[in-house]
Amino acid sequence: MKNPVKTDEIGEFDLISRLFEPLSRSHKGALGLQDDAAILPLREGDERIITTDCVISGVHFHPDDPPQSVAARALGVNVSDLAAMGATPEAYTMSIAIPHGTTTHWLEQYAGHLSQVQDSYHISLIGGDTVSTPGPLSITITAIGHVPVGSALKRSAAKPGDNIYVSGSIGDGALGLKVGPDVTHPDMAGISEASAKFLLNRFRYPQARIILGQALRQSGLIHGCCDISDGLIADLGHICKASGCHAEIDVDLVPLSQAVQSAVKHDPALLQTILTGGDDYELIFTVPVEHKHAIDALIHTTATPISRIGRMISAQDGQNPVILTGQNSQILSETIQAGFTHCW
Ligand code: ADP
Ligand code: MG
Repeated sequence: MKNPVKTDEIGEFDLISRLFEPLSRSHKGALGLQDDAAILPLREGDERIITTDCVISGVHFHPDDPPQSVAARALGVNVSDLAAMGATPEAYTMSIAIPHGTTTHWLEQYAGHLSQVQDSYHISLIGGDTVSTPGPLSITITAIGHVPVGSALKRSAAKPGDNIYVSGSIGDGALGLKVGPDVTHPDMAGISEASAKFLLNRFRYPQARIILGQALRQSGLIHGCCDISDGLIADLGHICKASGCHAEIDVDLVPLSQAVQSAVKHDPALLQTILTGGDDYELIFTVPVEHKHAIDALIHTTATPISRIGRMISAQDGQNPVILTGQNSQILSETIQAGFTHCW
């Protein structure tokens, strides 16, 4: 077999024109990645929503993860932040620091999948930076979207009495990380190969809830909204903090996929990982009780599962912001009952 070409042997400009320029073609303002910067027109009455996240090999993903997954996660986590604000995604920039010795084959697979992921969100690459580094691979993506002025969903408007909802199912990402890369021999008892594969894919290929985020924004009914990246309890805690109230969730109402249900049946202690683990990229949002039917209707119009899991309550001095109720809360350890601090 021919030795794989190392990126050190080809220039930065070759890399950009071969791998990244094709990802910019559908956006006129990217100027083919040939100019000093991109041009993004803004429609009157809109405002921009901008978010950035950096992922580093060995910190946010495993060095052996497939390049396709690195692409899906690097872009997905950013677009998920746009979804949480109810934004329409528009474009993104990408700065990539490439370690010496990286093969062009790896980067081709990465860019190839990035192209598919950006198509699924209807966005294009419009700029960035490409450097080489003696350190680990690092990718910083900035995602750009827009909303009509003043309509962005925020974390800060939840009110006591609001119902709390989540999209999709919770805990798949956290257990996907736990099953490990070999689905034929999952690092978790009691689940089939098909379940292990489902969970791993949910971790590796997150899908930001863009359609739901936009529908929630358009409904005008949403008080607090956030995406679930740090974990259900931590992210609900962010809404509590920003809104100055507390929350009560019924653990029995938290939606779990078949795969997670069978894992929990085998090991009930996994419930803690499911509620605190993160990497779901679902949305969590609060809505006044009287709009229950409107939210139920969104399940059909957006083709997205939505479940009510609890309600917002007034802040109670000295209490944890997120109180857990329901039969299943009994099996959670002291640690989680005592509150959860997110470590980065
Ligand atoms: P400058 O020297 O002005 O920083 P560069 O030579 O770094 O410009 O980049 C040239 C062009 O290529 C710019 O339009 C830049 O946005 C684009 N570019 C560089 N790296 C990337 C990348 N990783 N993704 C997308 N566009 C990139
Ligand atoms: Mg540059």
